[in-house]
Amino acid sequence: MNTIWADMRQGVDARLMETAGRIIASGGLVAFPTETVYGLGGNALDSDASAKIYRAKGRPSDNPLIVHIACLDSLEQIVSSVPEQAYMLAHSFWPGPLTIIMNRSAHVPSSVTGGLDSVAVRMPDHEIALALIREGGGYIAAPSANTSGRPSPTTAQHVRDDLDGKIDMIIDGGSVGIGVESTIIDLTEDIPMILRPGYISLEMLRDVLGEVRMDPGLHSRDPSFRPKAPGMKYRHYAPKADLTIVEGRAEDVRAAIDSLARDAASRGLTCGIIAADEDACGYHCGIVRSAGSRAREITISQHLFGILREFDDLGVDVIYSESFDTPQIGAAIMNRLMKAAGHHILKV
Ligand code: AMP
Ligand code: MG
Repeated sequence: MNTIWADMRQGVDARLMETAGRIIASGGLVAFPTETVYGLGGNALDSDASAKIYRAKGRPSDNPLIVHIACLDSLEQIVSSVPEQAYMLAHSFWPGPLTIIMNRSAHVPSSVTGGLDSVAVRMPDHEIALALIREGGGYIAAPSANTSGRPSPTTAQHVRDDLDGKIDMIIDGGSVGIGVESTIIDLTEDIPMILRPGYISLEMLRDVLGEVRMDPGLHSRDPSFRPKAPGMKYRHYAPKADLTIVEGRAEDVRAAIDSLARDAASRGLTCGIIAADEDACGYHCGIVRSAGSRAREITISQHLFGILREFDDLGVDVIYSESFDTPQIGAAIMNRLMKAAGHHILKV
């Protein structure tokens, strides 16, 4: 299949967007930018389109997709009834990086929800994404636009690397703003529960809803105690090299990583290091990539997945990463990094 490349880095191109909308409406797939990561979209009300999404990504079919909408009125069609808490969240955070799980209506094919009775819904905060949803009929099912198991794409080129020739169109809207996937909150539980941390933090959600808890399965090392979001159980984002997170006081971490990198070099291994701007110049060995500044945590979430992809491309043998427990997005950054590391942490 020839994948159309639609350059919209300067904003929505009406003619190309019309083509994109026609592709979605006729059951095809379009990758598009959102404020979190790039999504791979198909018509959410067409079960054949979701089957194509699973196939193009190589995604297990028990891992449900998020339905993207462009206006609040669309919600009523796809959920059995809209909880009051959903309106409160939508009012505070939509359009934005928050996905809300509610009970689904019969309009949503079960292939979209991986057979679950609930559906995940989000209104993205990105003019290209919103235009595509409107143009494509109002409901776009979209997981992240990566091959299953690879880091989520934060540029259109990442999408091309994974999906060129497998989908109908890629819309290039430049680099994304946040860089980690949306926060997922489940409103089908008695107490609203975060199934995946993201840019919208636990504290921000508590400010709106009061009591909110984290899915205990997110932090469990017991493999029989699974996270509720099916996608969180996979060892996602796994780079090809072994990744270890090094935790401790900043100077101890720098010293430990520096010595581990020298040791790797002496054994003939290529070592990648993920550091913050504040520490990057403290390393004297290995390929050092600065994710961003601890003082501007969004710069770290923006660059993390791109660095993991770059280390794959460079064929590094081992990766050592600093820990990034920043105030708002830290929980999301560390959740993704821990998965990439297979929970391998070295405390110094
Ligand atoms: P992605 O868009 O690739 O980030 O994947 C969507 C995420 O949402 C995956 O982790 C899914 O498991 C999760 N998800 C989607 N629908 C549901 C649902 N109904 N219940 C729980 N988790 C869901
Ligand atoms: Mg994904």
